Amino acid sequence: MRPLSLFLAVLAPLFLTAQTTFLRPAFVFDGEKMREGWYVQVEGNKIIAAGPFKDVAFPEGAVSVELPGQTLLPGLIEGHSHLFLHPYNETSWDDQVLRESHAERTARATVHAQKTLLAGFTTVRDLGTEGAAYADLGLKDAIEKGVIAGPRIIAAGPAIVAGGSYGPKGFASHISTPVGADVADGVDELIRLVRKQIGQGVDIIKVYADYRWGLRGEAMPTFSLEELDAIVTTARSSGRDVVAHASTEEGMRRAILAGVTTIEHGDGATPEILQLMAEKGVALCPTLGAVEAISQYRGWKKGEEPAPARVVEKQEVFKQALAAGVTICMGGDVGVFSHGNNAWELELMVAYGMPPLDALRSATSVNARVFGWAGRLGAIKPGLLADLVAVEGRPDQDIKALQQVKWVMKDGKVVK
Ligand SMILES: [Zn+2]
Repeated sequence: MRPLSLFLAVLAPLFLTAQTTFLRPAFVFDGEKMREGWYVQVEGNKIIAAGPFKDVAFPEGAVSVELPGQTLLPGLIEGHSHLFLHPYNETSWDDQVLRESHAERTARATVHAQKTLLAGFTTVRDLGTEGAAYADLGLKDAIEKGVIAGPRIIAAGPAIVAGGSYGPKGFASHISTPVGADVADGVDELIRLVRKQIGQGVDIIKVYADYRWGLRGEAMPTFSLEELDAIVTTARSSGRDVVAHASTEEGMRRAILAGVTTIEHGDGATPEILQLMAEKGVALCPTLGAVEAISQYRGWKKGEEPAPARVVEKQEVFKQALAAGVTICMGGDVGVFSHGNNAWELELMVAYGMPPLDALRSATSVNARVFGWAGRLGAIKPGLLADLVAVEGRPDQDIKALQQVKWVMKDGKVVK
């Protein structure tokens, strides 16, 4: 054997053989069901096996990870985050947009990204930088290059809003203020803007189908159906989905008919609208956490006082959406409340009437499917990416167990 081939024969396995990890948790939630006595085997960045422990021998050379008393789940997927925002009771949204530099906001976002990952959320759909332009794409690059720790990001860049509708607002007419999103009007301008955002590298298009610009400051529809159609058609042509912020009946109706993938918030949904969502397969991302958080910032003492009307309405709409069979994405609008507390949204989903197993499905297999990641994320199955999280106890019996994160793996690497 020549020296070079000898070198390759001896050393190649060291470079070519991916690390194998053999996990033994008490329970496995595989994205659909709870399984007892299962093992999960990871090689490199993929799950290569999962099933009853009694059927397998411990693979030679594998790293053993014992997780007694813990439940192993697919890495959780946050459906609605704003990594570039921090809670409004610390700094108002207006002041974050107007007084914090992009550098400060990006520095904060790196901290938020790490907290999110350590909380077991290995993927986030980040729905708008709210005034920080395309900084989310740079954040995503830094995470993918391993410069900082953070979740996989499905990035929206700046949201798209109708002229005159969005904030910061309320300044004298001769003062020009920046808008916390991208403004465009009319079919031609909107097509141009969507294409520009695609060129910048966004993964998804976020549009505000309504906003608080009514006569008395109430939410009212913004874009026409024709404009929303143009946005969705242009985005779909490039293989991208559109998500719509909508909380009015008419704003939701236009967004659904235009073909958006998810409706964010949906506070004012009627039974008829929920029926239409179920029929068209449009998912609802209810953002329960945002409504509860804002109500508390306005003085509601939860637990001591009855829930304010806005929270009661939200509970009602959520129950109606469940009854209508609307697909529910887990997404809390985190950023309005603290990053790393993402699992609070699942606690609220359960408190508002969703069975815990369904809430777990929503944050894993359902979000993966709705966001176009089925077959790669959201389940514990051979061939999927090794995004895994272990929590103390059984979240199907007590959803608060999701706050007890003990171990996190993202893309085959242990991060906690
Ligand atoms: Zn939001």
